[in-house]
Amino acid sequence: MIEANIDPWTGEVRPFPKMAPADIEAALAASAAAFPAWSALSLDERAAHLRRIAATLRTRREDLALTMTAEMGKLRREALAEIEKSASACEYYADNAARYLQEQAIGTEAARSYVRYEPIGCVLAIMPWNFPVWQVFRFLAPGLMAGNVALLKHATNVPACADAIAEVLAEAGLPAGVFGVLHINNQQAAGVIGDPRVQAVTLTGSERAGRSVAATAGSHLKKCVLELGGSDPFIVLDDADLEKTVPVAVASRFGNAGQTCIAAKRFIVTPGIADRFVRAFCEAAGQLQVGDPNDGATTLAPMARADLRDELHRQVMASVAQGARVLLGGQPGQGDTSYPATILDAVAPGMLAWDEELFGPVASILRVADEAEAVRVANATRFGLGASVWTTDAHRGERLARRIQAGACFVNSLVKSDVRLPFGGTKASGFGRELAEHGIHEFTNIKTVYVA
Ligand code: NDP
Repeated sequence: MIEANIDPWTGEVRPFPKMAPADIEAALAASAAAFPAWSALSLDERAAHLRRIAATLRTRREDLALTMTAEMGKLRREALAEIEKSASACEYYADNAARYLQEQAIGTEAARSYVRYEPIGCVLAIMPWNFPVWQVFRFLAPGLMAGNVALLKHATNVPACADAIAEVLAEAGLPAGVFGVLHINNQQAAGVIGDPRVQAVTLTGSERAGRSVAATAGSHLKKCVLELGGSDPFIVLDDADLEKTVPVAVASRFGNAGQTCIAAKRFIVTPGIADRFVRAFCEAAGQLQVGDPNDGATTLAPMARADLRDELHRQVMASVAQGARVLLGGQPGQGDTSYPATILDAVAPGMLAWDEELFGPVASILRVADEAEAVRVANATRFGLGASVWTTDAHRGERLARRIQAGACFVNSLVKSDVRLPFGGTKASGFGRELAEHGIHEFTNIKTVYVA
């Protein structure tokens, strides 16, 4: 089976073969063989591996960034920042996993009763192309510290990123089999999920992929964690400080060409600030320059694939037909996969721009009467990943944050993943958590020991 990856900016086509069944079997066998020795290492020994991985990521950052940009079009500086974030995550879990994984005594009538967090074996990670390095390390750094081994099925358009990650880990001295890459299609992935040597699966991707992977995992009674799409509200209240709000609105919606699950997508504005916010937002977003992602002057990356760009444009056109107004952009680039910074005004529930996830550089503005309506429409979505509230009254922001149905709500701050905080969604944005104490426990056997 041959599949090809297409450079989003240059159009260069690079064939990439999928694996034959014997290669898949070898990877599964290597993973199973590696688990006993890896899980038997002390936390200090595993931490030393993680620190070497962090150092190797930094040493190889230039090449790795080139690969990321060539495969999915990310701006070079965004790629370098992503690699640094991944290296820091390895160091964070090297430093902190022992605290998260220590046994917890629970008082009962027993002489001793406590909880242990034991590794479970091989976890299959099905990962997307939008943060092709960070998404992998977000799962891998805590997972390795917990004593698990991992297999990665990366998105079809970022195969060289997957191989580059494997090379980094091998160069850092990670024992063979502790991490493996599977270049497989979705049908083969279903077979791997069902394999008895795989204990669990973690997926980041679309709702469609989530439904399919969860169904397969469920049919084999395997644990899964799903991090799916989002349509994050960005609520701007009358008393927001626009000098702080607008730059974050631009960074959140247009960074990574808008292809971020926790990007602000629905901008909900109250009457006292709506016109001023929209004017400043359009002015700032209008400065963004599409171009070669390796050129330092480019401020808006091309989209990762032509089909994703075409789908985004279809959603924009349908929303316009439903009554949305284009304030900025709205015309796809020619000869590459770019899409300009686009802002739609007068968006309302029932329009595609509201009901679906717009996974690209398109912002939807909805004007509401007051704070109560802002909360109501923020929650009027099947997604529930992230949210942000902008107000100079932090207590007011916090009150709203408690009422928003999302895995995370930030007040006066960009919604971002942070190794110290749990990350994940509610509703159709998925279930389970990554990162922090909650994330590292997801793929452990939370074992009760009771000594009478
Ligand atoms: P997908 O969800 O199809 O891809 C994400 C990962 O899931 C890839 O590794 C993909 O593999 C895999 N996958 C997809 N279907 C299955 C399946 N049935 N069984 C096993 N693995 C599967 O995303 P797309 O690339 O098609 O993007 C489409 C939309 O998904 C975007 O427009 C966006 O809305 C959303 N998305 C959200 C992301 C997020 O961060 N939450 C990340 C990426 C996409 P393969 O590439 O081989 O199909």
